[in-house]
Amino acid sequence: MKRIGVFTSGGDAPGMNAAIRAVVRQAYALGVEVIGIRRGYAGMILGEMLPLGVRDVANILQRGGTILLTARSQEFMTEEGRAKAAEKLRAAGIEGLVAIGGDGTFRGAMRLLEEHRIPVVGVPGTIDNDLYGTDYTIGFDTAVNTALEAIDRIRDTAASHERVFFIEVMGRHAGFIALDVGLAGGAEVIALPEEPVDPQAVAETLLASQARGKTSSIVVVAEGAYPGGAAGLLEAIRAHMALEARVTVLGHIQRGGAPTAKDRVLASRLGAAAVEALTGGASGVMVGEVEGEVEITPLKEAVERRKDIRRDLLALSRVLAL
Ligand code: ATP
Repeated sequence: MKRIGVFTSGGDAPGMNAAIRAVVRQAYALGVEVIGIRRGYAGMILGEMLPLGVRDVANILQRGGTILLTARSQEFMTEEGRAKAAEKLRAAGIEGLVAIGGDGTFRGAMRLLEEHRIPVVGVPGTIDNDLYGTDYTIGFDTAVNTALEAIDRIRDTAASHERVFFIEVMGRHAGFIALDVGLAGGAEVIALPEEPVDPQAVAETLLASQARGKTSSIVVVAEGAYPGGAAGLLEAIRAHMALEARVTVLGHIQRGGAPTAKDRVLASRLGAAAVEALTGGASGVMVGEVEGEVEITPLKEAVERRKDIRRDLLALSRVLAL
């Protein structure tokens, strides 16, 4: 393999730049050229490509977002769109792809491989941590730390005003961020999409903690845990108790910022491993880190198998929120 392409797609995640850098420099070490594809599949269809040399990826290791930009593409969801993309890749002499993104990105990559025989290796880059075949996805650790910092600040004001705060964190389908943030932030209640959320039970928990003398509490809610998110849950709880509470939706601040050391190390390792796998003949797979070792998982499994949350940690959070 003489020339490969790299792109970022779907939601951006801190550490994507570190992964791009690792792809470019590992490829250089192996004598392989790298073409950067801008704006994910949208740019691929339009042929937005540029050669990436080792100096082009200098000074990006510590930057959030992605220098290649990212996008969502409706056109790529169609066969014609994918055919256009494949044509552009062939015209540019790209013999294989490193796809950095989440499950949607990998589904698209699988289609490209099936329909046009373009070899592809995925790198898990999403703050959601919802991919099977890796203990952590690139960006998750940073997102958790960013959300935690916000929660620590809210806790100060919650304690001073003796208030209950409902804090909504990202996670429409997965509660990984909410669980870690909730445990690390000492949340009274953690509401996750993976577990049924009963407003009456939450009300009882809050009433019991008030009875124990607690004057302020933090409730962490993953956006997909309850219809209407944190605000919806608060509304439903009010049917069971009178509750003076504030809602904070952390939103996109969770996506930005400099990647943590952990995310940089993970991105460096997986970016390099993806190039080694691709140039070594692997395709239709994702590189991940499982129990400290790099592991290769078929893309199909990475997107279709469910990675469960650590229910023991959820149980622990309840014990510790006394
Ligand atoms: P994140 O989970 O962080 O948002 P993601 O990679 O899951 O990242 P998506 O928006 O779901 O983000 O997917 C990115 C792009 O991948 C889509 O805009 C679309 O172009 C392509 N894609 C997603 N699913 C498919 C599919 N089933 N077939 C073809 N292309 C797809």
